[in-house]
Amino acid sequence: MTLSHDKALVLFSGGQDSTVCLAWALQRFAEVETIGFDYGQRHRIELDLRPRIRTALANLDSGWKQRLGEDHLFRLDALGAISDTALTRDVDIAMSESGLPTTFVPGRNLVFFTFAGAVAYRRDAKHLVAGMCETDYSGYPDCRDDTVKAMQLALSLGMDRRFVLHTPLMWIDKAATFALAREIGGDGLLDLVVEETHSCYLGDRSRRHAWGYGCGDCPACRLRAEGWAKWVRECTP
Ligand code: ZN
Repeated sequence: MTLSHDKALVLFSGGQDSTVCLAWALQRFAEVETIGFDYGQRHRIELDLRPRIRTALANLDSGWKQRLGEDHLFRLDALGAISDTALTRDVDIAMSESGLPTTFVPGRNLVFFTFAGAVAYRRDAKHLVAGMCETDYSGYPDCRDDTVKAMQLALSLGMDRRFVLHTPLMWIDKAATFALAREIGGDGLLDLVVEETHSCYLGDRSRRHAWGYGCGDCPACRLRAEGWAKWVRECTP
C-alpha cells in the first residue's frame, strides 16, 4: 500500500473498533496521532487500556512504531454532566421510548469530532479517522454516514481548512471488523484486539471469553460475541 505523506488523527477510545481504525491509519499515513476523551463513562477502564494498546501496536510493526505520534487525552466533564444516560450513570441499559438505547449520549460524536477537528487544526492533520459504523449499530444517529459527512463539511467550513473524515468500518459488521484486523496486521493484531481492547459497557474485565473480556450480557458484549461467532463460522478454515 502506498503511504500518504499526510498526517492523520484517530479518535481512539481503546475499544475494538477504534483500535482497528488506528491500525488502518498506521498502514496508510506517514504520521498518526490519537485523541481520546474522558467524559465520565462507566466503562472508564477503556481509558486505562489506551496506552497499552498503543504500545502493543507499535511493537507489532517497526513502521507503525515510527509513524505513531502523540496521544491527546481530554476531559469532557461537561458532556457527562449534561447526559443522564446508561453510559454515564447507573441506569439500566434498555430501549427508551424514543426508540434509542439508554446508552445514547446525545451529540457525543459531534462533540468528539469538534474537539478532534480543533486538535487536528493545531497539529496540522488533514485526516480524521473514526470507528463509526452503520451496519450493526444500535441506532445512534451520530454514527450515521450522513452525520459524518455533514461534520466533514462543517469542520472544513468552520475552520477554513480541508479536513477528510474517514470511517473505514461504516459499512462492515463486527465479524468483518475481526477479519479486517487480521487482514491489516495478521494474527498478531487479531490477538491484540481480542486480548487488549474493551467493548463492555459495564467495564467488566473479570470474565474472559473467546472474543475477549466483558460481562457477556450488555449490548456491546453481545454484539462483539455474535461478531466473533460469525467470523469463526465464516472466515476461519
Ligand atoms: Zn458487557
